[in-house]
Amino acid sequence: MLRDTRERALKDLRISVTDRCNFRCRYCMPKEIFSREYEFLERELLLSFEEITRLVNISVGLGVEKVRITGGEPLLRKDLEHLIEQMSALDGLRDVTLTTNGVLLARKAAVLAKAGLRRVTVSLDSLDDEVFMKMNDVGFPVAKVLDGIEAAAKAGLTPVKVNMVVKRGVNDESIVDMAGHFRGTGHIVRFIEYMDVGTTNGWRLDDVVPAVEILERIGKRFPIEPLGANYPGEVARRWRYADGEGEIGVITSVTNPFCSTCTRARISADGRLYTCLFAAWGRDLRGLLRSGVTDEEIKAVLLDVWTKRDDNYSERRSSATTGLGKVEMSYIGG
Ligand code: SAM
Ligand code: SF4
Ligand code: SF4
Repeated sequence: MLRDTRERALKDLRISVTDRCNFRCRYCMPKEIFSREYEFLERELLLSFEEITRLVNISVGLGVEKVRITGGEPLLRKDLEHLIEQMSALDGLRDVTLTTNGVLLARKAAVLAKAGLRRVTVSLDSLDDEVFMKMNDVGFPVAKVLDGIEAAAKAGLTPVKVNMVVKRGVNDESIVDMAGHFRGTGHIVRFIEYMDVGTTNGWRLDDVVPAVEILERIGKRFPIEPLGANYPGEVARRWRYADGEGEIGVITSVTNPFCSTCTRARISADGRLYTCLFAAWGRDLRGLLRSGVTDEEIKAVLLDVWTKRDDNYSERRSSATTGLGKVEMSYIGG
């Protein structure tokens, strides 16, 4: 079986289908940088759905079982359901999921489910309109995201996971409300430690609310107990409400990194292969795909990249590493 230099298999692919977004979350695409003048990728530079499906098919032959479609905002990519349809027809792929900010989800949930999408993760950082609007920085209201979550549940994209990135002094007062709101609904909130992805969000360690503190705050209001992982290498650590009203997760990339079990590779919207969220460089696959090579030749390149992989950024994170050149999350996909 394919292994990297730290004995990790390749199991998950996260594919960014666009670098564009209709939000300007301050921790991801701050307005000052991602302004009107910012040059997003031209259409012909993006991988086509056929190119993506071909890569996924080859990757399945190397052990990939799960694909997550992300961005930027993936639902901005026209006819995304066609990509999902193509991927769902592949043998050996167990799971196709999507991460979205939820803006277009109410409109698209049913058609995505029909195309073969299994589940969605919806990002929502607060239930307080004032806080949420400030965070997405385009004045988008909470209610519309909640409509998207309900549409997803109705379409059978369950359990819906709700991602909340927690930033101290910005939305940490919303933690317990979020837990309370989604308790008993079957949806699973996952509280994410704010990370130093990219170079534009001005990350400081002081802005991070450690997962232990998040759990402590929730536990005071609603007693919780730890749950085991669903499968080895699961990113979120799971907890359940002691009264049986469901579960939550915490993603502890900063305070308790999980590099040793990281089986994820990422493909950027323009077809570069990155073996770590914090990488500065990715191998160009678009040029390769468009040069007329065979599947076997592409497979050999993927194999070469993965067998040389040595990444463990989160285990080495320090003031010396946070300043390094890294690609932006909106480009590589979260
Ligand atoms: N636009 C979609 C969305 O927001 O769900 C998909 C792409 S977004 C980059 C994927 C996930 O990364 C989101 O849940 C987002 O909250 C998270 N994210 C972005 N920047 C982050 C950061 N600095 N630290 C932690 N999570 C971050
Ligand atoms: Fe857009 Fe998602 Fe980044 Fe927010 S986190 S700016 S919604 S890509
Ligand atoms: Fe994986 Fe890199 Fe994150 Fe570590 S820092 S868990 S290697 S993506």
